[in-house]
Amino acid sequence: MRKLTFERPIIQRINAGLPSKYGMPRRLEPLSHIDGVSIQTLLEEFGSPLFIISEQTIRKTYKEAYRAFSSRYPKVQFSWSYKTNYLNAVCNIFHQEGAWAEVVSGFEYQKALSNGVPGELIVFNGPDKSQEDLRIAIQNHSLIHIDHFDELYELIHLSKELDERPKVAIRVNMDTGIYPQWDRFGFNFENGEAWDALNRIMASKRLDLLGLHTHIGTYMLSTDAYRVAATKLASLAVKLERKYGHILQYIDLGGGFASKNTLRGAYYPGTDTAPSFDDFAEAITSALISSDIKPDHLPLLLLETGRALIDEAGYLAGTVLATKRLSDGRRATIIDAGVNLMFTSFWYEHDLRPIAPVSDQSEDTTIYGPLCMNIDVIRSNMMFPLLKKGDQFVIRRVGAYNMTQWMQFITYRPNVILLDREGKPHIIRKKETLETLNSQEELPDHLKKFDL
Ligand SMILES: *Cc1c(COP(=O)(O)O)cnc(C)c1O
Repeated sequence: MRKLTFERPIIQRINAGLPSKYGMPRRLEPLSHIDGVSIQTLLEEFGSPLFIISEQTIRKTYKEAYRAFSSRYPKVQFSWSYKTNYLNAVCNIFHQEGAWAEVVSGFEYQKALSNGVPGELIVFNGPDKSQEDLRIAIQNHSLIHIDHFDELYELIHLSKELDERPKVAIRVNMDTGIYPQWDRFGFNFENGEAWDALNRIMASKRLDLLGLHTHIGTYMLSTDAYRVAATKLASLAVKLERKYGHILQYIDLGGGFASKNTLRGAYYPGTDTAPSFDDFAEAITSALISSDIKPDHLPLLLLETGRALIDEAGYLAGTVLATKRLSDGRRATIIDAGVNLMFTSFWYEHDLRPIAPVSDQSEDTTIYGPLCMNIDVIRSNMMFPLLKKGDQFVIRRVGAYNMTQWMQFITYRPNVILLDREGKPHIIRKKETLETLNSQEELPDHLKKFDL
């Protein structure tokens, strides 16, 4: 008979008066498999910690989003937001599903080209486009979204030098009822700057004005903000047609739809509060369709959805390194994945689960990562079962931003694997080694030797 492990009895205070909608904290259900594949087996084969991405979930989520918009509006196009997750395998799944590329730097632009995205299907956003980036984008006929007047004048200058008509849109920022307002990107709607920029483009006669763009924020829980944004962009389109007879080809509503993660301190879980793709699509398309844009001139609707398309498909599995008691008696569990891999721990109360049935008891626990840094906290307090050294866990919904904002700090970045639609694992980014990092360093000759 297997010897049962001893569990110290604990006294749990009942927080009367504080039950959530779900009553008292429930037992955390273990999550043992992803797409039918055992997480434990994957950890054995590919090491711990381990990022796991589900191809099936990406495709399913994309189809759901596309359907929500295309069933309500005649012309819809998604552009994959590279910075949200630019692992080539991930980008190419989106491209196979039909998404163009949305990039915010010369590096991302080159990555999209090298993945095989045609230049004219790359949307180039962001405040940092060098003269060289712009030259390449103009010659490739990419869609350049102008961020500020300096860029506008640079484009007019380059159009003469290269004897080309750059394809452009302007990014517009505005009051959508969400504060703080994201007014550092693009031209402001309310103070007339956006209209001024459009007039300058038309007056220059050197740029091919194709669209209007906005990206109002990220993790947006309000569909109404999108209704306001679409209405304001539509009003600019109407003004352009009225004054110049100019008809725009597209309106780009950016990204920002909330994923189903739960924000820190939120009372309800994100699974309950995040609007669905249908909700967002309803708000945006009804604003466009009921605007004063003539029905024959309705522009293509571009979307640059990032986190809501990929968060759900990403998992981070790992191992418990140790447990300890903090000085106030609270329980702490130390795991082998820290904020170096989980940048989003600063915003989210991540859904962390054991991968196998463990103790029936739960305790208020702080989950620390492995870094020698006090800020390395994955969850500051959660009711968590009493996992021990060597037990394994998995964190759900980590597909967005973590695999681009991760840091090489103190430890190596781990393997990232993709489970294909048959559940077969493929390494899509190899674990780093000392050689990976040393290959970037140079050691001056006089520092090569020392005697101790
Ligand atoms: C980051 C970004 C996106 C994607 O935003 P999400 O909040 O992840 O949907 C889209 N467009 C632009 C311009 C961005 O900077």
